[in-house]
Order: sequence, then C-alpha cells, then structure tokens
Amino acid sequence: MSEPESSSADAVVIGGGPAGCTVAILLRQYNPAARIVLLEKEKFPRHHVGESTLPDANAVLHKIGVIDDLNKAGFPIKCGLTYKWRHDRPMFTDLFSRGVHANLQERLYPRGIPDHSWQVERGRYDQILLDRARAAGVEVVEQAQVDDVLRDPAEPSAVTGVRLRVAGSSQAITARHTIDASGQARLLSRRLGLAAEKFALGDTALYRYYEGFEWNESLIGSFYDGKIFFASVPRGWMWFIPISTTTASVGLVTRKSFLAGSAPDDVFDEELGHAPEIAAMLTAAHQISHEYTDEPPRTYAVQDWTYRNRQLAGPGWYLVGDSAAFVDPILSSGMNLAHNCALLVANAVNTEWNHPEIAADEVRSGYEALYAEIYSSFLSMATWWYERRDTDIRDW
Ligand SMILES: Cc1cc2nc3c(=O)[nH]c(=O)nc-3n(C[C@H](O)[C@H](O)[C@H](O)COP(=O)(O)OP(=O)(O)OC[C@H]3O[C@@H](n4cnc5c(N)ncnc54)[C@H](O)[C@@H]3O)c2cc1C
Repeated sequence: MSEPESSSADAVVIGGGPAGCTVAILLRQYNPAARIVLLEKEKFPRHHVGESTLPDANAVLHKIGVIDDLNKAGFPIKCGLTYKWRHDRPMFTDLFSRGVHANLQERLYPRGIPDHSWQVERGRYDQILLDRARAAGVEVVEQAQVDDVLRDPAEPSAVTGVRLRVAGSSQAITARHTIDASGQARLLSRRLGLAAEKFALGDTALYRYYEGFEWNESLIGSFYDGKIFFASVPRGWMWFIPISTTTASVGLVTRKSFLAGSAPDDVFDEELGHAPEIAAMLTAAHQISHEYTDEPPRTYAVQDWTYRNRQLAGPGWYLVGDSAAFVDPILSSGMNLAHNCALLVANAVNTEWNHPEIAADEVRSGYEALYAEIYSSFLSMATWWYERRDTDIRDW
C-alpha cells in the first residue's frame, strides 16, 4: 500500500464553522507568515441550525473583519428577545439595543462595533466567515474529511496533526497545533477518548422552516429592530426566529422521553397549539425545506447538546466551539461562545508559538480555567430559565 501524501503546517483547524474560521483568521492575522490549513468536510454553503446571534460576539467579528459583510447581507437586525415564559405572567422583552428606525443608514452601516446582532441564515453567515478566512490567507480545503488525529508515539496525549480524505485520496498533515472545531462531531475528543460531562436540560430539538409568515411587529419588532420570540410549552419551549422578511425558523426544544410513542410531527403540532402567538404568525405560511436540499419539507431533529469536555487542551491541541462544550439553545449563546472562545484559543496558541518562556501547560490550563468560568455562567443562566418555565410543564 502506498504512503498517504503528507505535508506540514503551523496549525491545522478541523471544521469551518464560526469557531474554526475565527481561530484560523486570528492565527493568520497574528502570524502572517504561518501556514494555517482549515479542513471542512462539507461544500459551503451548507445548512446548520442555530440562527440567532448575540452582540457579545461583535468585538471578535469586528476583529476578524466581517461586520461590514454581515450588515450588508440583509439579515434581519436583532435588538432583543421577547419571552412568554409563564402563562400566568405577562410577556416581557429584554433589549440590548435600543436604536430604531431613526438614522437607518447609520444603523445598518455603523462604523466600528454595532450594539445589535442578527437573525441569520447559517449557510450564508458561515460562508461569509469562510470567505474571510480565504481572504486572510488561510488555506481552506472544502470536502476534506478528517478521519483521525496523528499521535506522538513517545507521548500518547500529544497530537501532531491529522489524517484526512480529500477527493478520494488519503493525506496526512503534521502541524505544531491541531485545533478541533468540528462542532458536535467532536472528532478529536472522540479519537482521544476524552470524557464529557452532560447536564439535564433540553436534549432534543425539532425544527421547521416556514415561508410566508405574518410578521407581527408588536411581538417581534420590525426588520430593523427585531426580537426573537420564545414561549414555554408543556413539553419544553419553542423558538420563533425570522431569518428573512418571509422565512422563519420555528423550533421545539424538548426531551427524548417526551417523544416516546408519538410521531415527532404530532408532538411539534401539539406544542405549537400551546404557543398561539407563534401559530398565529404561521396561519398563512407553508413549510419549506432548508435552502441547500432538494428534499421535500420535513421536521428536522438534533439531539444531545448540553455537555462539557473535561479536558479542553493538551500538548499540540485545543478544542473550541461546540467541540469543547455547548450549553443550550435557550441562551442563543452557541455562536457567541464559538467566536469568543476562538479568540481565547488563538491567543493561547499564539502565546505558545511566540513566548517559549511561558510553560505551554500553563497556557493551556489558563484557557481551560477561563472557559470553565464562561461556561459555568451560561450553564447557571440556562438552568435558571428551565427552572422557571410553566407550572403545568411535564416533569423535566
Ligand atoms: C437546536 C439548536 C439551536 C441552536 N440555536 C442557536 C442560536 O439561536 N444561536 C446560537 O448562537 N447558537 C445556536 N445553537 C448552537 C450553534 O449552532 C453552535 O454553537 C455553533 O454552530 C457552533 O459553531 P462551531 O464552529 O463550534 O461548530 P459548527 O458550526 O457545527 O461547525 C463545525 C464544522 O465542522 C465540520 N466538520 C465536522 N466534522 C468534520 C470532520 N471530521 N472533518 C472536517 N470537517 C468537519 C462541519 O461540517 C461543520 O461545518 C443552536 C444549537 C442547537 C442544537
């Protein structure tokens, strides 16, 4: 058997989602001569759930140079959230951005860092990031499936690169650092057999896309000062996210045990009946597929997302984004964590490369400590929300 083709890089990044692109771009910005290779198994644009961003990621988005492209992409502007969380309590709205239509042009094309966020169609959002990575000099290879990580025989906890398949041929890339940003695939931690903690929040989401919904401004604001809408329902809670003027993402977060013996579509429809504000916006709408498939419309499902890897870094490797940990969609925090923790990883790797006087294991444990702090605060917030859902909810 012939040896796989091999090459070497400074860093190899597994996955081209928000976390992978952000790390790769920052590493190139810090080290313009470095060879940074980003391997993505799909051809972009591709579908992904998780469509509502938070402004807390904007400083990083500004740093990697994508704010202008995001503003020009035509995504609905998000300024806050409206909750109907207990049916015996009034609805309430939480705003992080207060500016409305006045001086619209300036709001849409602000200089610097905006205080609003966006409701995004993830295929296009992630494409903007991947294009930016290419423009920054990252070697982006799409349809490149990483199968395994290379290990140092002398130090089994150390990772020295990846083995991948691209266009039918096997390749190996050795690298000073391998950064796993493979999302919930968690490629590196599965290959190293790392343990993860799980937490008992929602564990299953069913979601659909609708075209032609009625935009209820009193509930979700206008296109320029939008809010996502969340409602608690007996089997969990539902989201309503307008990702364009006509298309909405509608989801139910629930638990696997509540689906036992029922068809997911029936459960979705029943729970939609408990969220009349969402149902009303969908009266004249019809269900559609996501943009990147010819399949007929269906109810999509994802499961098991609330976990935290016990170890987030080791010799020659870091985990970032969902591959490290994810809390729960209740906080719309996934991309925020992905972008901000990517900044932490890029800083850590950069320190390892440029400051040999600082011990690498101290740099890694610093990253783990910071991540633990951020993650714990999100986990407490998510738990707080779950504990305060309706009194008529099923036992969680
Ligand atoms: C139901 C649900 C709703 C959510 N809603 C929100 C929300 O409203 N707002 C929000 O901010 N977040 C939300 N999230 C979370 C959000 O989607 C993720 O946190 C975010 O996508 C994480 O980014 P990432 O870059 O870590 O991973 P991903 O975006 O998943 O990117 C990982 C990439 O790695 C690639 N990949 C995987 N395996 C390999 C391999 N072996 N080789 C090469 N490439 C590989 C994948 O193709 C993918 O492109 C939600 C999540 C769920 C489950």
